[in-house]
Amino acid sequence: MADLILVIDEGTTSTRAMLFRPDGTCLATRAAQLTQHYPEPGRVEHDAAEIWDKTLSVTRAVIDEAGGAEKIAAIGITNQRETVVFWDRETGEPLAPAIVWQDRRTAATCRALKKAGHESVVQAKTGLLLDPYFSGSKIGWAMAHWPAVKAAGARLAVGTVESWLVWKLTGGLHITDATNASRTALMAIGSGQWDDGLIDLFAVPRAALPEIVDCAGQFGTTTLFGSPIPICGIAGDQQAATIGQSCLAVGETKATFGTGAFVLSQAGPTPPTSRHRLLSTIVWQLGGRRSYALEGSVFVAGSLIKWLRDEVGLIGTAAETEALARSVPDNGGVYLVPALSGLGAPWWEPDARGAISGLSFSTGKAHIVRAALEAMAHQAHDLKTAFAADGVDWASVRIDGGMVANDWMAQDMADILDVSVERPKFAETTALGAAMLAGIGCGLFSDLAEASVMRGAVETFEPMMPPETREARLAGWKVAVESAIA
Ligand code: ADP
Repeated sequence: MADLILVIDEGTTSTRAMLFRPDGTCLATRAAQLTQHYPEPGRVEHDAAEIWDKTLSVTRAVIDEAGGAEKIAAIGITNQRETVVFWDRETGEPLAPAIVWQDRRTAATCRALKKAGHESVVQAKTGLLLDPYFSGSKIGWAMAHWPAVKAAGARLAVGTVESWLVWKLTGGLHITDATNASRTALMAIGSGQWDDGLIDLFAVPRAALPEIVDCAGQFGTTTLFGSPIPICGIAGDQQAATIGQSCLAVGETKATFGTGAFVLSQAGPTPPTSRHRLLSTIVWQLGGRRSYALEGSVFVAGSLIKWLRDEVGLIGTAAETEALARSVPDNGGVYLVPALSGLGAPWWEPDARGAISGLSFSTGKAHIVRAALEAMAHQAHDLKTAFAADGVDWASVRIDGGMVANDWMAQDMADILDVSVERPKFAETTALGAAMLAGIGCGLFSDLAEASVMRGAVETFEPMMPPETREARLAGWKVAVESAIA
């Protein structure tokens, strides 16, 4: 009987396939690491062919584990957002590297558009800001700089990563869901449609774009694995995590600490307007009806730990950071501003660069590592302040992502944010959210409230830090972050 849900979770650093029972039990996971290409400072690329090959092989492996495609009721897809893929409709092969969300190559274009006064229109239509982060300027750049992309003409297909995967899985269906489309800066979030003015502004070829669809439904079928399997759920990773954390009521907030850190607060059926440089985004679209979230996007979180391990060699494993942070009583006056690819919300300074301050002869490795972990709570606190100024007070925060395996960091988050922090025992909330959507799309659940049965138990971290310690930490951070921007 087909009663399992297969999730493809295509992240920035790895692509995964996971198998869920309708009660939320995860039966199998297969993952493959993705190569990060850094062709120049500020540029980050992926090989779309590698994304597909590795997705196919991990998917095959979990289908084998399930006992065959006939056991799978539906596929849910969730993905790194904003990253753009360019391919040929005739051959189904990539025409150029995928430009990754972290890539800053369009900083000058965005600055020029901002200077020319376009940011208010972009913000009003899309809920986003003029920043290289979003897909629109990346697509315009590829059209202008990559002859193979421009020369493809009517054969060109452009899409974010879920579009690429759906195309490959179905052999030519070109769709994107509304959450992923809401990150391109090409869609009007009020109507859920591509906007001609924005398409012209970023010099994007309209005919190459996919059709925008709901997050749950019968989107198409893959026959690559034997029996046909319908694709029934699609959402960008942060929206999927918001769903997986069951942030269904207005104000409910989740914070994911993976490669970057992304905080989303449920805002209900009307797009929120931020006056404090947060983003307004579609959190899901079901039955043609949209729900929105206020979002704070921080570009560097777990990637800082990866950098300390791989480039600086300060640690051997990410997990070591916990014991190192505990080995010293405080940060010893050291602050680390993780602006390694500029600063995102609420600063939006693409040219800011990272800094470590407060070094002395008594500074040891543990202080620097502790400062790196503390930076996560500091960045989250900047977002808390911006959310509050936009009228959204966090009563508690539901955390997830690879970094929250770190208990010390989870406690520090509660201490600095001064709210309770909930961590689900099953931390793969992004995949869970995609499974919930696929469950709705294939008729296992009637709505998100019903699909919430898939979310399991949580642990809670309560704030324990004396207020004066918190204030001193935040004062030190303020000085550090302001000098990184100046
Ligand atoms: P993504 O989905 O964005 O690829 P994940 O959610 O898998 O990322 O998170 C992986 C990140 O978490 C890595 O960058 C890694 O450095 C970091 N990480 C993993 N374990 C720990 C830990 N115990 N403490 C701190 N950081 C960690």
